[in-house]
Amino acid sequence: MQTVYLDYAATTPVDPAVAKKMMEYLTPDGCFANPASRAHMLGWFAEQAVENGRLQIAKVLNCDARELVWTSGATESNNLALKGVAETRRSRGNHIITSAVEHKAVLDTCGWLERQGFEVTYLQPNAQGVIEPEQVAEAITEQTILASFMFVNNELGSINNIAAIGELLRSKDIVFHVDAAQAGGKLTIDLKTLPVDLMSFSGHKIYGPKGIGVLYVRRDPDLKVAAQIHGGGHERGMRSGTLPTHQIVGMAEAFVLADERREQDLEHLQALRTQLWQGISVLGDISVNGDFESGFPGIINVCFGGIGGQGESLLMAIKEVAVSTGSACNSANVDPSYVLSGIGLNREQALSSLRMSMGRFTTTEEIEQAVNTIVTAVTALRS
Ligand SMILES: *Cc1c(COP(=O)(O)O)cnc(C)c1O
Repeated sequence: MQTVYLDYAATTPVDPAVAKKMMEYLTPDGCFANPASRAHMLGWFAEQAVENGRLQIAKVLNCDARELVWTSGATESNNLALKGVAETRRSRGNHIITSAVEHKAVLDTCGWLERQGFEVTYLQPNAQGVIEPEQVAEAITEQTILASFMFVNNELGSINNIAAIGELLRSKDIVFHVDAAQAGGKLTIDLKTLPVDLMSFSGHKIYGPKGIGVLYVRRDPDLKVAAQIHGGGHERGMRSGTLPTHQIVGMAEAFVLADERREQDLEHLQALRTQLWQGISVLGDISVNGDFESGFPGIINVCFGGIGGQGESLLMAIKEVAVSTGSACNSANVDPSYVLSGIGLNREQALSSLRMSMGRFTTTEEIEQAVNTIVTAVTALRS
């Protein structure tokens, strides 16, 4: 039996149209030259492809192409945003606000900044996984220079009110970074109107290739991001390194495709999630972690009652369905997902939960197969 892939929040396959485009920028007969080579036509063509990709993504996000910096992915974008701003604003204050349910790329970067002498407040989300603007307001001090909140949570699908948080932070002159790895290309993002200073994106969460990302840096004379990777001074000095033309062209193509298909993709995900939820509902004693109504429809995180925290056994029992638990395996035992603990689940509930994430290529037949497999396995575990 074929594996049903329900782990799109971890990564997506590259859309065949994207892969086809990328092939034109790799081989000897393609546009393979170094985009920084100014001495010959081949270099100019590569540079043109890079700048065209930048324009395409800028158009989708409604920002200026000069506001986009290529990186290796959202992990690097998050690192560059947080470390780069903390470094340039250190003389103004040392306090940073974020949440306890951010991606590790934000949490571990904040941990590193704490060791450099910064103070970080980690806000606890509500039961739906959402940070309330009032909490942010209460956490602000005279020392606050920077805040970072994710757009869509990768484990729950919960969506933060970025506009409301952004307005609040802007009124206090605090730099606002948003990790939009799970939102880019999927939700409408208008950076002309959204009060955000920095935003991280990734190629491989949106049917583009792995190893490419973007950091949006608002054009504002008062916003400076210190480089964290030094070299040839690429990307206006913010991020050195030879630009990977094929990855850039691929990410841009993926963004354009996602933008064109946004409504269609969202409706597809909504239908699949409803089918999945109704299918497994026959089990009884199951609940959604996060919020079904307000969350991103591509992600559903479910707690299965009566399996005594045996999420890992459930994962093993449904091998032909690829899902995730969010828990971390250490040598001796399993740590429950810090995101599920963060929204108030106890250890057993967190360890009885699975994240299922669907995508563009998921079919109703696959959901049917997944439902049958999960229902059988949970029933067996309960008895
Ligand atoms: C996947 C993901 C990242 C990391 O992105 P990479 O491009 O894999 O480095 C960061 N934040 C969130 C919310 C993600 O889902």
